[in-house]
Amino acid sequence: MSLVVVGSLAFDTIETPYGRRERIVGGSCTYFSLAASFFTHPKIVGAVGEDFPEEVISLFKKRGIDTQGLEIKAGKTFHWEALYGEDPNQRKTIKTELNVFKDFSPQLPKSYQDADIVFLANIDPDLQDDIVSQVKKPKIVAMDTINLWINTKPRSLLRVLEKIDMFFANEEEIRMLTEEPNIIKAGKKILSKGPSYAAIKKGEHGAMVLGKDFIFSVLAHPCENVIDPTGAGDSFGGGFMGYLDKVKSFSQREIRRAAVYGSVLASFTIEDFGIERLRSLTPQEIENRFLQFKRLVSF
Ligand code: AMP
Repeated sequence: MSLVVVGSLAFDTIETPYGRRERIVGGSCTYFSLAASFFTHPKIVGAVGEDFPEEVISLFKKRGIDTQGLEIKAGKTFHWEALYGEDPNQRKTIKTELNVFKDFSPQLPKSYQDADIVFLANIDPDLQDDIVSQVKKPKIVAMDTINLWINTKPRSLLRVLEKIDMFFANEEEIRMLTEEPNIIKAGKKILSKGPSYAAIKKGEHGAMVLGKDFIFSVLAHPCENVIDPTGAGDSFGGGFMGYLDKVKSFSQREIRRAAVYGSVLASFTIEDFGIERLRSLTPQEIENRFLQFKRLVSF
């Protein structure tokens, strides 16, 4: 099978109780593809400016990520600034500078058009829509988003929602989008619009997957020092979809296991700033933590 992801590649300025980092590499596509690369060879679609480090593009290639759909444009890379308080589940966006994404019109390379799985990571919903229309016959299309798009482009977002199979969002976003405070009801509202699954991320409380006939809950790995929560959601998505691409099955059993692998990848990302922990991560560490998750909920 093959997995295509469209999303942001970014410079992030992040402040958490553990420190501040200026313009470190981030972005929804970056976290997603690095996490997914432990299971498969994701094909990325996105744009960066000429200021984006060559070294990170080499890292993508080294990890088996296909960068044919990555455009290097004249101008500056997307920049996002966020502030986290003591509660890692709460963050404040200080700044979003779209830069090269302002006039980005993605063109899927031919070799991407037969993708089996498409992940529309957090990016302008009009770009997400554009990508969906360029893929021939995907088996599963999933999407993620962020509050900025729920607030500024709700119609575009709802149009994409009707075309997809799996919706990823955090608690705050799904409540905002559905105007429903109870997340089970909110998830069911999403399913009534077309998707077969809603994956609701709950930060340090784990995640929940709602299907038409099942609910699955997964805990988050107990982590005492959340250094930088940025990218946890995208790493969850990358582990989740990367695993599904690897096992070539969308059975309920595999979807449950995919949610656990998603949580495992997210639990590593938050242990350091930016993509640092994903750089040093090994398959053995992933398997060990997967087994720890099993022990955690065994009774
Ligand atoms: P997460 O912590 O998984 O929700 O995702 C954080 C990543 O999303 C950061 O690395 C940002 O660069 C990226 N990001 C933040 N806002 C946006 C936006 N409006 N569009 C696209 N990507 C964004």
